[in-house]
Amino acid sequence: MKAAARLFLVALVTAALGVAGLYAMGVRPADLAHWGEDRNALVIEGEKVRIPPITGTPERLAPAVIAETSGEWKLREVTEGGAVLHDPCIPIRWAISTDRMPLGADEVVHEAVAEVAARTGLVWESVGYSGAPAVFDREPLVKQVKWRWAPVVIGWSTEGESADLAGRTSGVGGPMVTRGAYGTDEYLRSGTVLLDLADFPDDLSNEADRATAKALVMHELGHVVGLDHVDDMSELMFPSVTSTVEWGPGDLAGLASAGAGQCEQP
Ligand SMILES: [Zn+2]
Repeated sequence: MKAAARLFLVALVTAALGVAGLYAMGVRPADLAHWGEDRNALVIEGEKVRIPPITGTPERLAPAVIAETSGEWKLREVTEGGAVLHDPCIPIRWAISTDRMPLGADEVVHEAVAEVAARTGLVWESVGYSGAPAVFDREPLVKQVKWRWAPVVIGWSTEGESADLAGRTSGVGGPMVTRGAYGTDEYLRSGTVLLDLADFPDDLSNEADRATAKALVMHELGHVVGLDHVDDMSELMFPSVTSTVEWGPGDLAGLASAGAGQCEQP
């Protein structure tokens, strides 16, 4: 072997050992593009937890939705950097809390989630059921071997337990907001929907009540994907329950935009 070739081979071996060494230090290839830059972290139960890095080439999990209608809609989180939205390259994992879940509500919630998924182009991945009550005060990351974004939890509560449901409020919903793995970009993550047991229709075998219940869940899920209230009563994102039980033209345009966020890059 000529001297130059041998040197090149030695260099390659050294490079390979270098990467292996970084692996041993817990640094994954996604971090190499940000070498020397601290990965953003959250403090969870006193432990500093790094935000999960993106690996590979991110791709939308479902096509973006093209809105064919226009009307009133508004996003809740808009910063100087633009709209803060869910990452369309990461599935929104979700669970139903079975704690005091009304009879027949399971199917209504599944239908409402499917509506939001179809209209946003965001993929929702069911992780099943949780027996624990749904609460807003949760961490955005959960440890399941490795740290993952917590699922959206949809459940029922009372005014006595959740001050958010006081008065005429029949439900509340919203996402969490965190930084991406690096830099200052923010994303919507996870979320919670709390439905007031006292206001949730009792008899879901009644078609009109079932439609009202589903519309209520759709409204709260609209908040989870980042929509704010609007003044137009013909939209589901109007703040009160009305006779409107289907998405309005502005809702549809808003949902399409809510699902059109950027994928976080490694
Ligand atoms: Zn609302």
